[in-house]
Amino acid sequence: MALSLLARHNPLASAEQQLHILANSTTCPPFEQRMAAASLHPLHATGITVFQINVGKLCNQTCRHCHVDAGPDRKEIMSRETAELCITMLAKTDIPTVDITGGAPELNPNFRRLVEQATQLERHVMDRCNLSVLLLPSQADLAEFLARHRVEVIASLPYFRASQTDAQRGNGVFDKSIEAMQLLNRLGYGHEGSGLLLNLVHNPVGAFLPPKQEAVEAQFRRELQRAHGVTFNHLYTITNMPISRFLEFLMDSGNYEGYMERLANAFNPAAAAGVMCRYTLSIGWDGTLYDCDFNQMLDLPLNHGAPRHLRDFDPARLHRRRIVTGNHCYGCTAGTGSSCGGAVT
Ligand code: SF4
Repeated sequence: MALSLLARHNPLASAEQQLHILANSTTCPPFEQRMAAASLHPLHATGITVFQINVGKLCNQTCRHCHVDAGPDRKEIMSRETAELCITMLAKTDIPTVDITGGAPELNPNFRRLVEQATQLERHVMDRCNLSVLLLPSQADLAEFLARHRVEVIASLPYFRASQTDAQRGNGVFDKSIEAMQLLNRLGYGHEGSGLLLNLVHNPVGAFLPPKQEAVEAQFRRELQRAHGVTFNHLYTITNMPISRFLEFLMDSGNYEGYMERLANAFNPAAAAGVMCRYTLSIGWDGTLYDCDFNQMLDLPLNHGAPRHLRDFDPARLHRRRIVTGNHCYGCTAGTGSSCGGAVT
């Protein structure tokens, strides 16, 4: 299995190094300049409807494009104390959606307690699931647990064929993903009217922008049903962010500047006005607050006077906070934008 950037002592394991590369791109103007031209700078939040908890970087996979640099070797995981703090703060709000991500969030020993407590608070819970985790012997009852708590499953599946998916996510991952989706389908997931949502996320395998969502969703639906009898609710397309292991791929393949230019040329003011950081609060494994999961991975916590840690959580100061942006944000504003409401692992 491949190793994380950190385990390989790759310089790109450093957020500072990534930010340096991003800030010095020669093919795109500074993001803030483009936003100012669209009357969107400085960018402010419009409220918080998604409470996104990243419970850590531990994962059973090491995907090539992972923006978290997650993997089996990563040890950073949310403690019981911080997980409890998440729930305490959530209870003070009426934020309707709790979005749990990682790594493979289910491998955090506090994952199930977070789900149970958030559902007790009557919040809609989303699990950003890599699918293969459902087949681990230690997670034999996970699918039933998710169904019992009516957790929405958002699962990454780069393509409906094994070769492209395995190229990005590791050998054998496609077959495991299919087996996991069949398991979820048997429990009612992905079937119209069951209320158990199985949504897929497609991201391009190379240095290009995703195709039109409607077309690719229809193709996935047809092919997964025909070849594997698998059904799902919706498919979202996302753009690969030029950070972490995808940045490594761009640099190694000589595609970095071309990709940044492609993103900048596809800047869409409508997508920029609707970026997820405007309605999301992202919480790191140690309780640090961020505007989004991407900023989290670049070590860019909240700024401009907003509280920086969950213990200082103050909805009134967070709702209209000014957002921290940079050239990586071009990944959210290209074309129709990334529409799954956040990152997947
Ligand atoms: S990368 Fe984060 S801060 Fe930048 S536009 Fe996207 S969601 Fe907002």
